Amino acid sequence: MKQNEIIYFKFPWDRIGITKYFSSSHEAIDNGGTVSKEKNKYAYLPCEAKILKNQWYDDYGYMVEYEAIDKRGTFVMASGHLKKKSDLVVGKTYPMGTIVGEIGSTGNSTGAHDHFRIALNGVRKNPLDYLYVYEGQFVHQEDEKLVKYIKNVKFKTNEEIAKEVIEGKWENGQDRVNKLTEAGYNYDEVQSLVNEMLKPKEEEIKVGDKVEVLKAINYDNGKTFAKYYDKYDVLEVSDNRVVIGIGNTVTSAIDVKNIRKVG
Ligand SMILES: [Zn+2]
Repeated sequence: MKQNEIIYFKFPWDRIGITKYFSSSHEAIDNGGTVSKEKNKYAYLPCEAKILKNQWYDDYGYMVEYEAIDKRGTFVMASGHLKKKSDLVVGKTYPMGTIVGEIGSTGNSTGAHDHFRIALNGVRKNPLDYLYVYEGQFVHQEDEKLVKYIKNVKFKTNEEIAKEVIEGKWENGQDRVNKLTEAGYNYDEVQSLVNEMLKPKEEEIKVGDKVEVLKAINYDNGKTFAKYYDKYDVLEVSDNRVVIGIGNTVTSAIDVKNIRKVG
């Protein structure tokens, strides 16, 4: 499937109103509050997925379990308590938005709701960390601050993320590994770009080059050199110290490790 991408899973319902949240004793979320309203009749596939199971469980009633793979690993998700056995066929792959089944109350359940769970590489996760609200989906007021919206997702390139790493936005060491991985970026790819960007470039940068300042610099005297322009001209190079400016006007002297040659 999408081994090189992140899948932005869509909430599997038309209306999001969580009636039971994720906890150590309930490793799933229940969406039940709005089932009586006509619009929330169905549970849908949150992404393209391959059906693993479609069967009866005493606890979960009619349940469908399905799989999706992206760069974070293998996700196995399930919707339970369906009104009747789903029409989806085990082993087949269906697109995002396919109806899994009508939300019901089969199995050990006190009222119609979808018991929705998600596991990543065999570990149960809080679905709210992985699902996104897409355009046209309704969110109950009490959940508005708990959910993520697809419109707020910023799709950044590895290069943009590498610049952020240098600016200090992604921690260090193992924290950086975890944070980047959690956000769906490939740590090795990003870090090698970072290393590339930070490599001393004194032999590469020469007078007349155009350079980009990688981060705002704080000088010993407390002053800050902020980047006002996307590109500066290199006016003078001596060892690691590079004088940059616009045209012939000197802007600053800066360490070579804080700049990068562009275009
Ligand atoms: Zn439940």
